[in-house]
Parts: sequence; structure tokens; C-alpha cells
Amino acid sequence: MKEPTPRVELLRGVVPAAVALILLLVAPLWERWLPATEPTARWPYLILCLVAVAAGLHGSRERWTLNLATVTLPATIAFFGSAMAAWMVLSVYAAREFLLRLLPSKPARPAESRPVLDLLPGGAYLVLATLAAGWTWQGGGANASLGWQLASIATYLVVLSGLHLLDLQRAGRLKDLSWREASGSLGIDLVGWLVGLAFVPMVMGLNWAVALVPLVALGLLAADTARNLHLRRRAVDQVSELWEVTRAGHRIIFRSPDLAGMVGQVLEECRNMIPFSWFQFELLKGDGGPRSWFAGPDGRIEEGVPEPADSPPALPGIHRRSSWKVLGRELKGDGEAIARVRFWCDPRRLEPTSVELLDSLLPQVASSVHRALLDRRAKHDPLTGLADRGVLEKHLESVFSAIRDEGGSMAVIMCDLDRFKKVNDTYGHDVGDRALLRIAEVLEKHRRETDICCRYGGEEFAVVLDQTNGETAQRVAERLRLEVQRTVFTAKDERVYLRLSAGVAAYPELFVKDGKELLVLADEALRTAKSQGRNRSLLHLGRGKYRKSDGTEVDVDEPPPKPEAPTLFA
Ligand code: GH3
Ligand code: MG
Ligand code: MG
Repeated sequence: MKEPTPRVELLRGVVPAAVALILLLVAPLWERWLPATEPTARWPYLILCLVAVAAGLHGSRERWTLNLATVTLPATIAFFGSAMAAWMVLSVYAAREFLLRLLPSKPARPAESRPVLDLLPGGAYLVLATLAAGWTWQGGGANASLGWQLASIATYLVVLSGLHLLDLQRAGRLKDLSWREASGSLGIDLVGWLVGLAFVPMVMGLNWAVALVPLVALGLLAADTARNLHLRRRAVDQVSELWEVTRAGHRIIFRSPDLAGMVGQVLEECRNMIPFSWFQFELLKGDGGPRSWFAGPDGRIEEGVPEPADSPPALPGIHRRSSWKVLGRELKGDGEAIARVRFWCDPRRLEPTSVELLDSLLPQVASSVHRALLDRRAKHDPLTGLADRGVLEKHLESVFSAIRDEGGSMAVIMCDLDRFKKVNDTYGHDVGDRALLRIAEVLEKHRRETDICCRYGGEEFAVVLDQTNGETAQRVAERLRLEVQRTVFTAKDERVYLRLSAGVAAYPELFVKDGKELLVLADEALRTAKSQGRNRSLLHLGRGKYRKSDGTEVDVDEPPPKPEAPTLFA
């Protein structure tokens, strides 16, 4: 498309403005001969005018319409003539543009601040449409009939939209027009006109009680408009800050190694970009297959699927009520979708610039998530998502040296599923894998922030407990054992009974030189628990002595032979 030259642009702005101005100046001359009436109730009329200005402020997207400010037009035309109505329209338009420039402290992008010249055609078209409507009204005489009044509304809408369309076509931007938004805005203009028609006899007849109802309604609309403006202002501020971030090539450093923590940070990042009420993050790959987290308006992250997908809650606010707008985006890593995010947004608060911003920032979020997942995969077991042996050994040594140097206590629990081979042999490896995932969930559920759970081998798990003595650790092991025993796990419509044995070793109750040795002793206790009948926990007391959970002691001359080093099931 050819760019219009500055001269053409200038003419486009100045010509309609000049025509409108001439008509505005000439109109009162001949309208002088028309019979004029005065409203008997001046206060409702004045309030009506103020409300019109406030209501006209809304509608930041389609600024060529007046929105509810048209409410004032019928009364002004009827009492003071078309020229006065056109002046009124011009004042509302100017006030709106002025306030919109004044209100947002930072424009989102330089292109948003329109030069004054750009405003001229918009104002001129409004004046022309109002004059045309006014003269149609006056065609019906001083007390125009309802037919003339409706004809005047139609004239206004046709002239205004016609001029605007012509303008867009000339500028070659007709294809950019959102017909839905344009017809919505004209619809609001129409509502304003119709409410305004009802005001004419009311204000003339001084019927306060009747006039009060629509006035209160308009007041509420104005309040809602003010709220929308405030929200817009905030969005604009956020957007301008975030453009800076986009340009700087934003990268998220995930603070927490667990997935829910990562989802929480993605949620925070996205909240900076767009306003939404519900959020969902679906992990498509890794960590035990597809998983989903969501957060409601309180921002608390939960694993599962959010409800508003099926039954959207009602939206707050009193005008432009509509349903949620659900934005869904895929996060890609190495060319394939790794996750999906969805946002349930209040459409009234959703600025196109925010969506644009979201789309420009999401690739950066995606690459951060991708890196975090790769990092996690390198350090975590892919089936259960628990830490792997490397992470465990490092953690064990750091906790051990801290306790050796600064005091305190620590414990290690080694767990192994009983007769797990039978589960695999009876139900297949898929069921076995599912069972391992369930066990991992139980361990994670009981883990404190400072503890670490690891998949040590095939169906062996280790837990390192910081600042915990042997007795407490054995209580934790018992709790885990009982919870596994209670877990209802089914395969092929049959209940599969899962059992767990555990061995516990604690420092400094046992004299060991490093964390690894503590792990060996916990493993020794575990093997003794197996040889003593399984489905139990034993606390290592040193020198062949173990304590059962009921407090009785077991003396074993020689610990059972060490099996081959556990390997991950291939
Ligand atoms: P116990 O420990 O009570 O002595 O008996 P067990 O049958 O559990 O002991 P064993 O160590 O002999 O068997 C462990 C089994 O765990 C062998 C293997 O089939 C299974 N296993 C190990 N890793 C995986 C895995 O990733 N997935 C599945 N499904 N099974 C696994
Ligand atoms: Mg086993
Ligand atoms: Mg085993």
C-alpha cells in the first residue's frame, strides 16, 4: 500500500474540520427563526450533560463514536437546536481526548499518542452527523413526532458510519476494521439516543420521580466507566514497563526446582502482561506424562484442571456483560510443544496491546521453561520426577558437613517396595510404573521444605531429613509405610496391595565419617527389615542392634548380604 503524503494527510484532517466549522457557525443563523423551547427542569438537564461527558470517556478503541454520551443529544436538539447539539458533541469529544491524554501517565507506545491533526476528522464527522440528525429532527417541527425522532437517530448513525467507512477506504485500512467492535460501539450510541429520547418529555414535564430512575442508572454507568478507565490506565502503565523488558530479552531464573514453583513463576510473569482470573499450565512432556496446574483468582496453584472451562462464573460489573475470553498459547522448545498455558480473562479488561505483549514475551517464557525442564531432566528421575542419586549425594554431604561443624542432627530413610517384582510379573510393567509414581507422590506429600526425596534405584527410595533425630525419623518412616499400606491402587479392576520396608539411620547418634556411610547404614537397616519379615521399619542403633517401631530391640549377629547395586529399570 502506498503511504499517503503529508499533504494528503493534512487535507484529510483539515477539510472535514473546515466544513464542520463553517456549518457550525452558519447553523445558528438560520436556526434563529426556528421556535426554541427551554427545559423546565434545568437540574436534570445539567446532570444529564455531565453524565454524558463521563459516559463518553469510555470506548477507547472506537473513538470515532460517542458511546453513551449521545444520551444528551435529543434533549439538546429539542431545546436548543442542532448547532448547540453539535457544539455539545464537540465538547464531549475534546474533553474525552484531553482526559485520555491526561490520565495515562505513560503512553504504551509512541504510536498510541495520536497527533492533534489525527483528531480533526473524528471530531468533524461527529459534528456533521449531529447536524444532519438535528436538521432531520427539526424537519418534524418544534414537537417532532416519534417517527421524525427515530429518523433523526438513523440519520446520525448512517452519516457517522458512512463518513468513517469512506475515510477508512480512502486510507486503505478498511480490512483492519473490526466489524464486531464497530457495530458494538454504534449499538451503544443507539442506546444513548433512545435513553435520551425518554428524557425529553421527562425534563419538560418536571417529573422528578421518573427522571430519577434513568439518572441513577446513568450514574452507575458513569461509575463503571470510571472503573474501566482506571483499569485501562493500569494496563497501559504495565504494558509500557513490559515493553522495556521485552526489548531487554527477558529470561526467567526459576527459583524453585519443583514444578509447582516453576508454574508459580510463570503465573507471576504472565500476570504482569495480561489481567486474568483463571490460569492453567499444562505440561505436555516429561515428569510422568501430561500434568496440569491451575490457579484461580486467589493465585494459589493447585494440580488439576480448572473448573471455569465448563462453567464460567458470572463476570462482575454492570455493563458490557459477556463471557470469559479464553486465551490459549503453546510454549515451544526445540520446535515442539512442551507446555500449554490458558488464561480466562475478563474481555472488558483485555487490551489488544496486552495480548500483543503476551505473544511477544511468551517465546522467552517458553525458552526459560524449556531450559528449566532440561535442567530438571538432567537431575531428576524422568518417571517420578524425584531427585536422582547425584542430587541426593551432593545434598547429603552438604547437610552432613553443616551438622558436623555447627551441631544438630540428621537422618536418612531408605525404603524399598516389598515383592514388587510380583506386581510387575502379574500386572505388567506399566502398572508397576504407575505404582512407583504413586509411591513418589506419597513421599513428596510428607516431605518438608528442607528434606529431599530421591529415587535411589528401581523401587528403592531415599529420604534425607535435616535437623531430625533417629526416633523422629523412624516415626516419619512408619507414617510413610502406613500411608503406602493404605493407598488404594487398582489394576485391571483388582486392588493391588503395596507394601514398604524402611531402614533408618541418624547422625550423630551413629558414629559415621560422612553422609555416604550413613546411607550405607540405613540400607543395612532396610535389608534387616526385609529379612525380618518385610512391611516394617527398623532404626539402626549400631553394632548389630535395631529398634522396631514399637520400641523393642532386635539383635542381629550379621546383617543380611548386600545385594547387587540397584539399577534403574530399563
Ligand atoms: P523385595 O524387595 O521384597 O525383596 O522383593 P522385590 O521383588 O521388590 O525385590 P527385587 O529387588 O528383587 O525386585 C525389584 C523389581 O523392581 C525388579 C524390577 O522388575 C522392578 N523394577 C525396578 N525398576 C522398575 C521400574 O522402573 N519400573 C517397573 N515397573 N519395575 C521396576
Ligand atoms: Mg523390593
Ligand atoms: Mg529392590
